Amino acid sequence: MDIFSMLEKGKEEKHISLAKEVVSFLSSTVKKEKRNYFYASEISEKACLRMLVYAQLTGCEEKISGTTQRIWDVGNSMHDDYNKYFERMGILLGKEVKFKKNDISGRIDDLVAGKNKIRVVELKTMRSGQWNVMQLPPEGYEGQLLIYLWAVAKASKERLSLTKKKKSQKGDLDRFITTLGSTFFEEPPEGILFIENKDSQVVKEFFHPYKEYTEKIAKLLEVVEEVKDFLAQKLLPERRCSTKTDYGARYCNYKEICFADKTFKEVEEGGK
Ligand code: SF4
Repeated sequence: MDIFSMLEKGKEEKHISLAKEVVSFLSSTVKKEKRNYFYASEISEKACLRMLVYAQLTGCEEKISGTTQRIWDVGNSMHDDYNKYFERMGILLGKEVKFKKNDISGRIDDLVAGKNKIRVVELKTMRSGQWNVMQLPPEGYEGQLLIYLWAVAKASKERLSLTKKKKSQKGDLDRFITTLGSTFFEEPPEGILFIENKDSQVVKEFFHPYKEYTEKIAKLLEVVEEVKDFLAQKLLPERRCSTKTDYGARYCNYKEICFADKTFKEVEEGGK
């Protein structure tokens, strides 16, 4: 509905809710195609392997409510603000840096200069209630950061061995890393999960020096390999939710197909 029709409607119905109109205007359905890679944001030690297999086998439709879209927009504004701050501070090396490695695709919020190292920053916002009681970083956020940290460490190690020809074939992250001076590689990279309280703008930071997290990173990469094994053997991992109303299933885009009990072959061939 365009703004004029909305105003017109407002004249006729005096108490029409403008907020409801905005939310309804922003609601959308996104069609997700099947893919042959993983998103860094979906990899965690507790990830549902069955869901990761479905994401590779079939498309799905994701309903985005207007409120969810507003939450994302607030998060995006926070990213823009910090990008400007880091830039003005003279420490911003790169923002929204994309990569694809070992079939994992990601986009790193910010790469920031540290003392003799690169700092990999993942920016998040959180509601007060959750933020106030948070002692440790949420597992999903940490998994995402650690995959980014791994990608930066890998690109840093490989940068010296990249020939001119190889550089041109590599992704944004590798090309970007080769532009940095050697001073940034004297120490291994460090990941920082930077979580801002939506009400007070106070930040909690969780520091992840690469060397202290290699075991955790290895476990995350194992999750990816496990899913690849299921795909290679054309098998579905066990269903972990017992009903469609389980907490895990509530936000799962594949719950219909999961509870329809289709075989791997049926899902692969497009049965929904
Ligand atoms: S419904 Fe539950 S078990 Fe099935 S794919 Fe989704 S999260 Fe996994």
